[in-house]
Amino acid sequence: MLTIILFGLIAATAEVIGGTLIVLRKEWPRKVQEYLIALSAGFILALVVFELIPESLALLGEVASLYIIIGFGLIHFFEHTIVGHLHFGEETHHEVMVSKVASFSAFTGLFIHAFFDGFSISAGMNFDFSIGLLIFIAVLLHKIPEGLTVASVMLSANHPRKTAFFASLAIGVATMLGILLVFLLASVDQKAVGIAFALSAGAAMYVGASDLIPEINRSTNRITPLIVFGGMLLFYISKQLMESILG
Ligand SMILES: [Zn+2]
Ligand SMILES: [Zn+2]
Repeated sequence: MLTIILFGLIAATAEVIGGTLIVLRKEWPRKVQEYLIALSAGFILALVVFELIPESLALLGEVASLYIIIGFGLIHFFEHTIVGHLHFGEETHHEVMVSKVASFSAFTGLFIHAFFDGFSISAGMNFDFSIGLLIFIAVLLHKIPEGLTVASVMLSANHPRKTAFFASLAIGVATMLGILLVFLLASVDQKAVGIAFALSAGAAMYVGASDLIPEINRSTNRITPLIVFGGMLLFYISKQLMESILG
């Protein structure tokens, strides 16, 4: 349990680092942000297809499909149905972000998203440590861009820098809440962990296909889409390494 919390803290810290970079106005090379998002997209989609969906089906049987689509729908609902404007990466559309309401709704969307990041790591590790570790890598790869996103959304809406920093901290806390909730579920019953696992498969699919891929497709740099395949390859290499180390 302590190990899982530790991994959660690492992911939450990456979030706050992303936020801090924006708050300190450090020059953050756009290319690095794009490459991280592309790498993460390829990795997370390969993870969903090769591990999360098959394992969910093995755990729960046919009903897993239902939980997968619910997980997908939950993130879609909180990020893009009730929220007017939210996308990954540094906020550059200052004209649509002037209202405080827009920034709070984007914050809420990211809060739910980050909650599921933690939830997925914890559900994965509770079920199978090496799958959990792969989920952790997938989450960690996009955590700095996520921190950049939340802090820049806040600054775009003319919130003070302190608020932008605390917003990224709060998103980090959301990740930890997701980690902890699975322990609560695990103490209730083991089937709940299976359901959590299937939900997080759907959530991860949404993050890869709908949060990350659209950012890559908008890029004018044609190397970025190629890096998605690099992310898939990275998944394969990580999985092989993990199997030879952890058995
Ligand atoms: Zn925007
Ligand atoms: Zn995330």
